[in-house]
Amino acid sequence: MNNSHISRRSVLKGLAAGSAVSSVSFARAKPGGAAPDIVVVGAGVFGSWTAWNLQRKGHKVLLLDAWGAAHSRASSGGETRLIRTEYAGNAFYTGWAWESLAEWQALSHRHESPIFHPVGALYLYPEDVPKIDTSIAIQRALNIPIEKLTTPAMAKSWPQINFDGIAVGVLQPTMGALMARRSVQTIVGEFVNAGGRFRRFAVDAPRSDKVRLDTVFGTGGEKLPADRFIFACGPWLPKLFPDAVGARITPTRQDVFFFAPAAGDSRFDGTHLPAWVDLSTPDHHYGFPDIESRGFKIALDAHGPKIDPDTNDRRITDEALADVRTYLARRFPDIAPRPLAESRVCQYENSGNGEFLIDRHPHWENVWIVGGGSGHGFKHGPAVGRYVANLALGEAKAESRFALISHPLP
Ligand SMILES: Cc1cc2nc3c(=O)[nH]c(=O)nc-3n(C[C@H](O)[C@H](O)[C@H](O)COP(=O)(O)OP(=O)(O)OC[C@H]3O[C@@H](n4cnc5c(N)ncnc54)[C@H](O)[C@@H]3O)c2cc1C
Repeated sequence: MNNSHISRRSVLKGLAAGSAVSSVSFARAKPGGAAPDIVVVGAGVFGSWTAWNLQRKGHKVLLLDAWGAAHSRASSGGETRLIRTEYAGNAFYTGWAWESLAEWQALSHRHESPIFHPVGALYLYPEDVPKIDTSIAIQRALNIPIEKLTTPAMAKSWPQINFDGIAVGVLQPTMGALMARRSVQTIVGEFVNAGGRFRRFAVDAPRSDKVRLDTVFGTGGEKLPADRFIFACGPWLPKLFPDAVGARITPTRQDVFFFAPAAGDSRFDGTHLPAWVDLSTPDHHYGFPDIESRGFKIALDAHGPKIDPDTNDRRITDEALADVRTYLARRFPDIAPRPLAESRVCQYENSGNGEFLIDRHPHWENVWIVGGGSGHGFKHGPAVGRYVANLALGEAKAESRFALISHPLP
């Protein structure tokens, strides 16, 4: 074992001694204790990195989640998330993704179980348009390794893919897959080990007639006072803040499928196939190689129907499965007839324009709202956490792209 690793056992010991990430160890956690400086509500990727950063800056932080860190219905739950800096020429998100990658790698190095698998990321384009070269230039200026590939070159490297309808590819060899649930639970584990407090606690919609919020209430009536509050509640933000957020964020249903490769067939594992995004289809299919033996993953980036994160059953439909097999039969013909190993229904929490929504509450000066990951937020967790921590402490200039005013109600 590498000495720079924090062992999983020491993280778990810390959780059991103080607070808890999982519901099992939560049962041993004690409510109460000294009032925190800052309460962060929501232990998804945004809230967890925010709490971690605030705690590192020396603040007494209490992190709360109604169901636990990266639980199965959170937008940060599930297996894998793509990290890439290919952002259609958007220099801001390219930069944030690149900065975040370094922090994800550092987190991965500190622990025994991998957080990041550098399988590479391959973008498939139906046309060679100037925007592709603009995006490549932005990345090269940051020294991000990136290659533009012809279709014959790709067909030689990945004979398991049929490149019909593809004009050009862009490979980012150092990008890849973040382990979603594991990484969020690991960052919460580090936060707790370093003295932060985590509780499984459902917060009621906040209320105050003043210009500040002094306290939040739990659904059981318990009061939690603090100086500052950060609500990083993903697809639940519209319910907690019907006026301030409301229709500015729309949760949509997103189906995810894992197919089982044949025994001994390594063509679909991470040593032979990168993560990929196919921009030639209106649905923008994307997927991952078989990582940690979960199966070949495929999903659609197109927004599904509206979903209520609290009430909807998480079952894929026969139609969605049939559509995915039809796509696979064309692009990945040898995986198409393989059995479905597993499926999940998650949700995006979309803003109107795909920008994150991060701003001070319009009435309460000590409350910040953080969300709107819009199907691409996960990779940015470290950058979002650092930005929100600085913002809440008055140490960062607010980015207008994230402001409530930049997200007009539809
Ligand atoms: C299928 C799918 C694929 C995706 N793929 C990618 C990808 O490849 N790359 C990428 O970068 N991003 C991707 N994303 C987007 C990314 O995962 C999300 O934007 C991100 O995880 C959102 O994190 P969050 O912390 O805002 O929300 P969440 O993870 O939902 O966290 C919010 C938390 O708040 C808690 N909460 C809510 N209300 C309360 C309350 N009243 N009291 C206490 N706690 C509360 C919830 O329990 C929840 O745990 C994908 C998302 C999905 C669903």
